[in-house]
Amino acid sequence: MRTLVYAANWKMHLPPGDARAFAATFLARTRPQEGRTYWFFPSAVSIEAASNALKGRPDIRVGAQNVHWEPKGAFTGATSIPLAKGAGATGALVGHSERRHVFGETDAETGRKVRALLEAGLTPMLCVGEKLSEREAQQTESVVTRQLRAGLENLSPADLARVLIAYEPVWAIGTGKNATPEDAAEVHRAIRGVLAKLGLGVRASVLYGGSVNKGNVHALVAQDEIDGVLVGGASLDPEGWSELVQL
Ligand code: PEP
Repeated sequence: MRTLVYAANWKMHLPPGDARAFAATFLARTRPQEGRTYWFFPSAVSIEAASNALKGRPDIRVGAQNVHWEPKGAFTGATSIPLAKGAGATGALVGHSERRHVFGETDAETGRKVRALLEAGLTPMLCVGEKLSEREAQQTESVVTRQLRAGLENLSPADLARVLIAYEPVWAIGTGKNATPEDAAEVHRAIRGVLAKLGLGVRASVLYGGSVNKGNVHALVAQDEIDGVLVGGASLDPEGWSELVQL
């Protein structure tokens, strides 16, 4: 039986008090279900509040939205992996499109972050996805292949098996437009092909992200190729999110 992953990216929302209140609602409205895992990616300042509030549920994990690959040093404003881990994070997003396209994160940097997370025993969720211009130029597969290779090349099969992948077409994030379930599944198949070439023996978890909401989540996870969703906007309301993950 495959595990479905429901991941909430809170971006620059939900300070600690709101994160605690969100967690209380989520815990009251959901029960652990076999084959379902939940991830929350709060802002760095809310990781500790969220992880403390959610720690009674082994099906729920909390991660950072971004980490630096160096364990410490003079990197003002950055969050190291030990800092995130100390606050309760057991994973992190890597290469989210806003990090890549707003903050200029390079493919090489995503690779360093993935490795550093694995070395520290945390789960990387590597985000890949093409821009609209790249999709229109039929470059979707070449872009995600390049991003996957940069993030994952030369990892041992054991390390690869610990990585989660999120396919998030940039043009679908926060725009209300999303890939059809069939289109997304096609890219997911291509991603699995690349993962197989990189040596990932077991079936990787590949999530879809980009304007997922209560109206489209069911059709997306009904696709065999789609192992869950990474959600921004629709994950900010505790009642709505608790409902969405059970649809
Ligand atoms: C995201 O931030 O990863 C995301 C998919 O956002 P949204 O659901 O708002 O498109």
